[in-house]
Amino acid sequence: MKAAKSPNEILQNLLSLQADSLVLFAAYDEQDVLRYANKSFRSAYHLEPGEQLSWGAIMRRNYNAGLGTVLKTDNFDEWLISTQSRRGKMPFRAFETDLVDGRWLWMTETVQPNGWMLCIASDITQLRPDDRRLRQDRDLALRASQTDELTGVANRRFIMARLEALVNRHLIGDTSHGCIAVLDIDHFKAINDRYGHQSGDEVLLDFARHAHSFVRRLDCFGRIGGEEFMFILPDTALGHGIQFLERVLDRIRAARPLKTFPDFSYTCSAGITALLPGDTPHEVFARADRGLYQAKLEGRNRINVI
Ligand code: GH3
Ligand code: MG
Ligand code: MG
Repeated sequence: MKAAKSPNEILQNLLSLQADSLVLFAAYDEQDVLRYANKSFRSAYHLEPGEQLSWGAIMRRNYNAGLGTVLKTDNFDEWLISTQSRRGKMPFRAFETDLVDGRWLWMTETVQPNGWMLCIASDITQLRPDDRRLRQDRDLALRASQTDELTGVANRRFIMARLEALVNRHLIGDTSHGCIAVLDIDHFKAINDRYGHQSGDEVLLDFARHAHSFVRRLDCFGRIGGEEFMFILPDTALGHGIQFLERVLDRIRAARPLKTFPDFSYTCSAGITALLPGDTPHEVFARADRGLYQAKLEGRNRINVI
């Protein structure tokens, strides 16, 4: 009988098997920076050996060079925000994706609670190509049902489901911290009335773009209705959540979103609360919303901690 392999030998074999596999392997860290990719992955996405770029930077470089993933958009930045607002927020995701070189891949994304993501993809170009159109339509419909049409960020349905997932993780003791923040643009009705509905929409887009730029991969940001938005910050102590929100409010204060009114500026108010043991999704949301209401009462353009 052969001697049992040591864990180290098994690991070494596993590593060399995947290194030369035709299957694409990659791992991104919690900041969405590529930390490892095998040869097949690097070749599909035109990466030099050892190159460690963020996922957004890889997509941008390939888009500009007409390489890598086929992106059906003429506005890369809009596409990026919309995709990032759903990327890596769930423990597992799988989808078909096509490359400029004509290949179709079945991509799987597995996310650990610490934020690292394992991507494994196989070539499925020859597999059931006749039904591909139907499967793509299904994926597009799924994406539309999770996305806010105006701003492209996650919509209420998506972000509320992420809130429920965080509360469940908290319940089973998988995470000890977490914050929820609800934000609302101040005097938005007056902005619409004074500058027009179109300008109001531009302010909403501006808000979504700035707020989204603060979001780490495991965080979630979405529009929950009208001019109201929510952040979910897993594994974040309340003090850090408050600092995070202060940076967001500062950025909004400095924004000048209307080209025809270069001096126009706007503010927002926010309520923030930490997840408590035994909270239901409804309770934690209602508490953050009470904080927001209090921030409005206290004069707006501020954060209320509740
Ligand atoms: P507060 O500071 O208390 O939040 O006051 P507010 O004026 O921001 O709040 P209010 O709830 O009175 O008004 C919200 C307005 O937002 C009313 C609604 O017409 C407008 N609104 C909602 N959705 C959209 C949208 O998609 N685009 C535009 N332009 N306006 C919208
Ligand atoms: Mg408002
Ligand atoms: Mg409102």
